Amino acid sequence: MTLQVAIIGAGPAGFYAAEALAKEEGVQVDLIDRLPTPHGLIRSGVAPDHQTTKKVTKKYDQTAARENVRYIGNVTMGTDVSVAELRDLYDAVIIAFGAEGDRPIGLPGEDKEGVYGSFAFVGWYNGHPDFTDLAPDLDIDAAVVIGNGNVALDCARLLVRTENEMKASDIADHAGEAIYGSGVKDVYILGRRGPVQASFSIAEMREMGELEQGISVVHDAQIPEALPEDMDPKEARSRKPVLEVLKSFRPNVSGSAAKTVHFEFFCRPVEILGDDRVTGVRVERTRLVDNRAIGTGEMFDIPCQLVIGCIGYVSREVEGLPMEGGVVVNIDGRVDQGLYCVGWAKRGPTGTIGTNRPDAQDVAARVLEDMKGGAGKPGGAGLDALLIDRAIRVTTYDDWSAIDAAEIARAKEGAPRRKFLTIPDMLSVVDEA
Ligand code: NAP
Repeated sequence: MTLQVAIIGAGPAGFYAAEALAKEEGVQVDLIDRLPTPHGLIRSGVAPDHQTTKKVTKKYDQTAARENVRYIGNVTMGTDVSVAELRDLYDAVIIAFGAEGDRPIGLPGEDKEGVYGSFAFVGWYNGHPDFTDLAPDLDIDAAVVIGNGNVALDCARLLVRTENEMKASDIADHAGEAIYGSGVKDVYILGRRGPVQASFSIAEMREMGELEQGISVVHDAQIPEALPEDMDPKEARSRKPVLEVLKSFRPNVSGSAAKTVHFEFFCRPVEILGDDRVTGVRVERTRLVDNRAIGTGEMFDIPCQLVIGCIGYVSREVEGLPMEGGVVVNIDGRVDQGLYCVGWAKRGPTGTIGTNRPDAQDVAARVLEDMKGGAGKPGGAGLDALLIDRAIRVTTYDDWSAIDAAEIARAKEGAPRRKFLTIPDMLSVVDEA
């Protein structure tokens, strides 16, 4: 009997789970996504100027091409079909929908105009249909980016990119126009801890030293000459080159280029200032105690008209899924009988794209172990009937291929694609194909 598996979310974790399961005999996988476009964060999270990273989707195409894998796009779990219904229809349901919301910064004034979470801001410049209308005002002097991870670097870098630097990117049209016309002169990246604790990766860090119209600056005194001697050797190997790049910024002078990116370590935001609109961020100087940031009571204000919180993501709440701390409650990917999770929904928003592969393989192995001899549910045939009954329009991987081809065909010279920004626009392409 065929084991019927539904995977919810066609991002990296979903594709790696599908890959691991589909190579087994007697398994049928339905990969369900709420958008007509698959690939999750590869399409809408990875920065548009990081095209090499996006090439991983070629591997996902191979998985989608397998006879026992079906892509079902434009179907939202929670509204079009419930978790309980999916569990009735499939032997195993694997939640792979990642983290689709911003963790609140938790600051007074966070609701002011001009304050965004990185999920929304990144979605906006990447042309995610949910954020097409975000329209952040970039006719500004200064922006503050909160957090010391790669998402913070992505947001800061994109804010100072030139049209020339982005010509081989797939940035959304609206974002390109706003960014290239932006008056922003200063971008502040705030880290509540120090440069040694920052989770920047070396490739992203190097880019901050190669900006066409930007200069990255640091406070000399905040950048140590060397890493602490007692640092874990593995961590030291990845931190050392990042520290070297920060050291290379020491001679740089603020204002010596059209745009300055200020690395401000040892400061934590305590309040977003302004009336309806943000006019600044009040920050408190910190010092490290046992590797934790402790406020010193010394305050200062950074005037700005845009704030982007890059402090982490949370997964979406859906009826029928136990959630805690922004992730699905699970033990090693097991949630309940026949219900599993993988990727960021399972472990929170950490790790690279590749981290999801072994993670998904482990959970797939658990599914196969748990389901030995237990198959027999209707699977996709049952789901198809239910969706037809509800007049839900579904899209296939061939439909995605048509959207893909149309985006590539209308790309500006040198760019890989020009994205469609709304679901109706995507569906019109499918209708015309
Ligand atoms: P991250 O690496 O976990 O960084 C989050 C940052 O937010 C940390 O510096 C953290 O500081 C800070 N933070 C958390 N709460 C805060 C608060 N209340 N106030 C001030 N700062 C706060 O997460 P991310 O940048 O969102 O990235 C998510 C994952 O995607 C990471 O694994 C990242 O490497 C990956 N990613 C990779 C790439 C790439 O490889 N190009 C690009 C984007 C994302 P503390 O350290 O003090 O907690």
